[in-house]
Amino acid sequence: MIALKGSGFDVILISGEPYADHPLSGVGVIARVLDAKGYRVGVIERPDWKGDADFKKLGPPRLFFGLTAGSIDSMLVNYTALKRARSKDEHDPYASGMPDRAVLVYANKVRQLFPGAPIVLGGIEASLRRFAHYDYWENKVRRSLLIDSRSDILVYGPGELQAIEIARRLADKEDLAGILGTCVARKELPPEFAEIPSFEDVGAGPDAFIRAQNAFSNRRPLAQRHDSRYVLQHPMPGYTTGDLDWIYGLPFSRKVPAHFPEFKMAQFSVVTHRGCLGRCSFCSLALHQGDRIVSRSEGSILDEIRRLTKHPDFKGTVDDLGGPTANMYGMDCKSRERCEKNCLGCKRLERSHRRLIELMRKARAVPGVKKVFVRSGIRYDLAMESEEYLRELSEHHLSGLLKIAPEHVSPGVLRLMNKDVPPLEEFRRAFKKANQDRKQHLKYYFMVAHPGSGPNEARELAREVGRLEREGERPAEGVQIFTPTPMTVSTCMYHTGLDPITGAKVHVPRTFAEKKEQKRILSRR
Ligand code: SF4
Repeated sequence: MIALKGSGFDVILISGEPYADHPLSGVGVIARVLDAKGYRVGVIERPDWKGDADFKKLGPPRLFFGLTAGSIDSMLVNYTALKRARSKDEHDPYASGMPDRAVLVYANKVRQLFPGAPIVLGGIEASLRRFAHYDYWENKVRRSLLIDSRSDILVYGPGELQAIEIARRLADKEDLAGILGTCVARKELPPEFAEIPSFEDVGAGPDAFIRAQNAFSNRRPLAQRHDSRYVLQHPMPGYTTGDLDWIYGLPFSRKVPAHFPEFKMAQFSVVTHRGCLGRCSFCSLALHQGDRIVSRSEGSILDEIRRLTKHPDFKGTVDDLGGPTANMYGMDCKSRERCEKNCLGCKRLERSHRRLIELMRKARAVPGVKKVFVRSGIRYDLAMESEEYLRELSEHHLSGLLKIAPEHVSPGVLRLMNKDVPPLEEFRRAFKKANQDRKQHLKYYFMVAHPGSGPNEARELAREVGRLEREGERPAEGVQIFTPTPMTVSTCMYHTGLDPITGAKVHVPRTFAEKKEQKRILSRR
């Protein structure tokens, strides 16, 4: 339990993920922005859901309970791609400290203990379960989490601006409908909302499921009927550079919680931007943070680094300078709010890496800074557009390793992943050239058993991994089995057996046997 101000709280945040007063902690950031707006905020982290005590510790909030599983869906935290419990201890299946479907469990508990208290859902689990969705762990279509949890409002995406507006409205006793970046359930269907296939229809067959998938967007008011009510999604608010500068300029203590030692690795990480242009089919970022880049100002980032140098634990190293994809900083576009096109294929996208190179140079020149690492992964096809960027990165910002995510090598699988980029070999040559005689390696992320990938494609990948190994690389370290997570395009393929873009049939490895076989093919390379 953490209290930011005195007793008697305006807002109580309940998180399945440990809390940290740090810009990388989702619940930590929400707590800070509400505190900065004068609200008294309490945080209950990883409450014991088998009892009531943890939930009652802070009493009822004046305004609302905010519930989140954190930055990863609780089912992904608790189970492997083959649906095995991640916890090795069969007597303690929830080593994560959170239950399955954490947000739902917390909502039921809060409603039982504090009837009538407003409940606000947030975090990835709520964000990507805001509409009817295929749930891999139950192998069925589930209703929107907003409906299932009978909560008052669901925040999707990062959520700072939404949380502030929700607190203001509840303080002023105003209705919660109409807040950008949120979903509410209502009986009426306002005319400006585009209706997508209902929960009932989506659950009934692939056609409606695909029509709903193709309609998902953060930029449009969408409505989905669930029995007699509509889940109404209000478009995402246009977060600006100013908003991010204000959020990341807040006085985070960056203390590493004793019970959360793994946070130490990222204690002095600096977020430079939000969003990702990639739109990879298996990734949910486009429908959470968004598929457009919002960058912080250079001044705000350098100010933050200067503040780090004053931190008692700071030893001169900035742990990471980046975002979801490190080399997309500065690729903001003026048309981002109203344009639905794919940026990576667009001539107007600013790809020079100019602003990023400038930022990297100035960041490592800040007095008191010895090293600025880039540990976030990069988009290698974009990086190939700037030899200067690759040189700067390799010479000054790597610790011998650069993360890239080619995911596969088979053209058919790459097309379904929406990752048909220049051959990996071209990037390896460019990276080698940028490094001259510096011994630095690439850390590869590959994926098996993605829709479209059968034994032949797995063998194709195994041959490539074997070739890379013979050339001294360590490609097999980052091989994972595809996991269908809610609301992604790949999950739509997995569930329907069809490519939602072309309607063509897709081979889907569904049995554990086939998934394990693909992993084995990789290990027998
Ligand atoms: S105009 Fe091009 S770069 Fe700008 S948002 Fe649209 S697709 Fe992206």
